[in-house]
Amino acid sequence: MNNKRFIETSFPVKEVSVESAREKNIRHGHISTLHIWWARRPLASSRATAYAALIPAPKDTEEWDKRRQFIIDLSKWENSLNPVLIEKARKDILEANGGKPLNVLDPFAGGGAIPLEALRLGCETYAGEYNPVAVLILKCTLEYPQKYGKVLKEDERWEELERENQSKNPLLEDVKKWGNLVLEEAKKEIGRFYPEEKDGSIPVGYIWARTIPCQNPSCSAEIPLMRQFWLAKKENKKVALKPFVSNGKVEFEIVENPDFDPAKGTVKGAVARCLVCGSTVDANTTRKLFQEGKASQRMVAVVLHHPKKKGKTYRIATEKDLEVYKEAEKYLEEKRAKLM
Ligand SMILES: [Zn+2]
Repeated sequence: MNNKRFIETSFPVKEVSVESAREKNIRHGHISTLHIWWARRPLASSRATAYAALIPAPKDTEEWDKRRQFIIDLSKWENSLNPVLIEKARKDILEANGGKPLNVLDPFAGGGAIPLEALRLGCETYAGEYNPVAVLILKCTLEYPQKYGKVLKEDERWEELERENQSKNPLLEDVKKWGNLVLEEAKKEIGRFYPEEKDGSIPVGYIWARTIPCQNPSCSAEIPLMRQFWLAKKENKKVALKPFVSNGKVEFEIVENPDFDPAKGTVKGAVARCLVCGSTVDANTTRKLFQEGKASQRMVAVVLHHPKKKGKTYRIATEKDLEVYKEAEKYLEEKRAKLM
């Protein structure tokens, strides 16, 4: 008996790879936003390989062609919840196995992509992991949505949720509620380290540069070591830090659609270039300055986000930002001492 599986004879590697790569840019609704996992497989390739491993090899080229196209369509992110395709995939797998649901075991399940797709394809799925973080991710990916994602009649909130909105998901409501509670508690404790701007934006990041002193004795300006000056480099949004020299010191301004090449920074392979006098510091000297503790750091810019707006904005860091940062640093030290 020929028990070869489809994947043993052929697989649309190129097309599924394209779908897998495309998935990297999808965030909303993707399990990658649940928690980072280092080598989480793309859902596209997990779904396509699981399916191709569970159906028999094609009988002829016509069937091969049809199956191949089906695998490509099935692997697309947009079809993750497509009832027609998913139902067909489940049916194919059941039929190929005499109508009995298959058991799939992933003993090193990590970020959960493979067991999630096996579940989607209707298999009895088991996922194992040694790492407790991965186990929690797996529970949240595979178990809890099935267990708590539906309103049950015995749930005391059932009537209320039913009345409000049929499609309300109790798990989602709980995550929102408790997530918000954690956020509010955190705000009470550390909110002061995120002072609001006049327009309501808050700082979400700081851009720092390590610095070394220029080795030209008649200059000794502070050289900010920056590999490049881009802050945002998207099709529709190009923002960069533009350095300029003022009173023998390197300063920055923030520019949109820069008229210079921000890809060229002040340091490359540990060779640094002084923007004040133009001299360079060779790689060995740069390293030595770090080893001898003569390097420093400087807060250059602040990344801001408005809670009601999309995207980020930027401004040059001020003394005030540095003060807030130092206060936060001090608070963290105290907190750490308390916890230790
Ligand atoms: Zn210099």
